[in-house]
Amino acid sequence: MANGVLSREIKFVAGVGEVRARLLEREVGVRTVGDILMRFPYRYIDRSRIATIAEIDETTESSYIQLRCRITGKSYTGEGSKRRFMVEVNDRTGVAELLWFHGVKWIEKRLEVGREYIIFGRPSIYRGRVSMVHPEVELVEQALSRKVESSFQGIYSTTEKLSEAIGYKAMHTIVSNAWQLAAADSTAFIDPLPDELRQRNGLISLKEAIYNIHFPQSSEKLRQAQYRLKYDELLGVQLTIQARRTSRHSRNNGFRFPRVGEAFNTFYHHKLPFPLTGAQQRVIKEIRSDMISGRQMNRLLQGDVGSGKTMVAFMSMLLAVDNGFQACIMAPTEILARQHYASMCRFAEGLNIKIAILTGSSKARERREALEGILSADVDILIGTHALIEERVQFANLGYVVIDEQHRFGVEQRARLWTKNEQPPHILVMTATPIPRTLAMTLYGDLEVSVIDELPPGRQPIRTYRYTDSLRLKMFGFLRGEIAKGRQVYIVYPLIKESEALDYKDLYDGYESISRDFPLPDYRIAVCHGKMKAEDKDAAMAQFKRGEADILIATSVIEVGVDVPNATVMVIESAERFGLSQLHQLRGRVGRGGEQSYCILMSGDKLSKEGRARLDAMCETNDGFRLSELDLKLRGAGDIHGTQQSGEAFDLRIASLAGDIQILEITREEAIRILNDDPQLLSPRYRSLQELRDRHRRREHIDFSDIS
Ligand code: ADP
Ligand code: MG
Repeated sequence: MANGVLSREIKFVAGVGEVRARLLEREVGVRTVGDILMRFPYRYIDRSRIATIAEIDETTESSYIQLRCRITGKSYTGEGSKRRFMVEVNDRTGVAELLWFHGVKWIEKRLEVGREYIIFGRPSIYRGRVSMVHPEVELVEQALSRKVESSFQGIYSTTEKLSEAIGYKAMHTIVSNAWQLAAADSTAFIDPLPDELRQRNGLISLKEAIYNIHFPQSSEKLRQAQYRLKYDELLGVQLTIQARRTSRHSRNNGFRFPRVGEAFNTFYHHKLPFPLTGAQQRVIKEIRSDMISGRQMNRLLQGDVGSGKTMVAFMSMLLAVDNGFQACIMAPTEILARQHYASMCRFAEGLNIKIAILTGSSKARERREALEGILSADVDILIGTHALIEERVQFANLGYVVIDEQHRFGVEQRARLWTKNEQPPHILVMTATPIPRTLAMTLYGDLEVSVIDELPPGRQPIRTYRYTDSLRLKMFGFLRGEIAKGRQVYIVYPLIKESEALDYKDLYDGYESISRDFPLPDYRIAVCHGKMKAEDKDAAMAQFKRGEADILIATSVIEVGVDVPNATVMVIESAERFGLSQLHQLRGRVGRGGEQSYCILMSGDKLSKEGRARLDAMCETNDGFRLSELDLKLRGAGDIHGTQQSGEAFDLRIASLAGDIQILEITREEAIRILNDDPQLLSPRYRSLQELRDRHRRREHIDFSDIS
């Protein structure tokens, strides 16, 4: 759309002019007619609908509405800079006040007591009174006689400065004028999608879509317009990703691990502590086939908490070692790294391989052993935390990198690991927070995805209950019962960055009350939270792990990966303050042994609808994949870890990676089909798609997975 009228400067559109044009460019980056038409409303109001003051409540507060009211009084209040103009209005269902802080003289002259106006704005409720700040006001007769393009009117995002100069109505007029100008030029909206593609996907034309996105002729037309414009964006995203994927595959730059050697075979045939699940076997095969392909592996492994990802990591690392390469695994916390180190050392007994650990708190000797060991190729497997990405960590021959609990690491941190050998190592990213496959592939560029969809046998589903405070004594009674049976208990308090001090107060208050209800010597209590020194934290965890504490009071630092099979109860305080996937992760800390385990979600009496839905979902299912789907629905678009960031990377204006999964899937298929036909989009039929693709290429500097 970069030709002719669309590239004309915005100042030539009626209603704009030099001053407003400068403001539009500075405030929202709009320079041309095309720019303004490609800024879509972020929501719509139905201007054929008049609301009443009586119906305004917490649920409608601060969304745009229209009222039809008579002015019953005008007055000034306040002094000096606090001076404001107040108008009282009445629509027979109630009274409201309208407030202006500036532009007061002008507005006062336009408003007459006794006459009826259409008032448009966002109401708020303060001390039981309905008010609106800086609403738009128009005499009823005038409003009714004004010709409107559509009864749905778009609301455009704006800035404070811009909205002062160009109000809601003026913006609408400008967009309308820009549209008239563009629509008159038959070359303005040449459709980039070939006809057969449009027909196959039931898409309206670009021109019709642009018109209806600004001036919807019906709610159905609006839906079609949104669908079409989202489709274009996501097709562009998919064309970019698929092209990148093809080019990476054609590069053939992966280490080859053709051998299944001594370490793997000895372990597999003689040392396996338990039979692998079918899913573990399948995933190991998938990884192995990547490792012999000559292409660099870039794989996401999704598996619910407790599904046995560590074993998959370990066995695939043996494949690297058998082929003369080193492997490393990076964990998000010190505790987890130590835990991996302990279990992998146990697995590796008698295998003739050397494992080392490196974390931020490694003492001199441990550090030296790790650093020298990997440089001299004496160490085969290095386990660690973020410390692994430091500059001075130099491998002799790193061939394989495993990243555990991927969501804790930033993109850049990961990218730095890629560069630790001349050729990029194979990468396995493991996560217990599954996201839909197509979304994962989009978010992480061209990652392959493996899924462990089966838990080891013999696990009993964890029973989950939701308790309010009034049942606290009952909960305590239950804990005593479990502790009497020799079991251990976690009690977790939320920790939210903005109010850390308060959160710790919650934890300490909780600690005091629990110490009273569970006195020594019958009950031993350990405390563990992020503000403690690493040593103290580790000491508390270790104490609990050894069974020397019955209760561990903690913040969510224990969320990831801690393994204490004898712990059977997870109590989560103020559970409504946790996200669904976090709750699920926490719950995964119990149910790791053979005993029936429990999760108790403590919450206040008053819950938001969403909070209640989350806790109910936890009680209903233990399935992490179902919970993550639900989480997606509850939180809606764009809120999944990483989607915001990559949404920006892809320059999305209307589609959302998390919210439009279906379109994401359809466009993925379509992109694969198109690129099979015409990889470079050079044929006359597909040439126009280049523009959709290139919109996203411009931003390729942020790349979520591509390595070399
Ligand atoms: P996660 O996928 O959450 O990282 P882990 O790898 O920590 O899970 O495994 C959870 C527990 O299940 C560990 O104690 C592990 O030894 C055990 N485990 C893993 N695979 C199996 C299996 N196939 N059969 C029985 N137990 C298993
Ligand atoms: Mg794990």
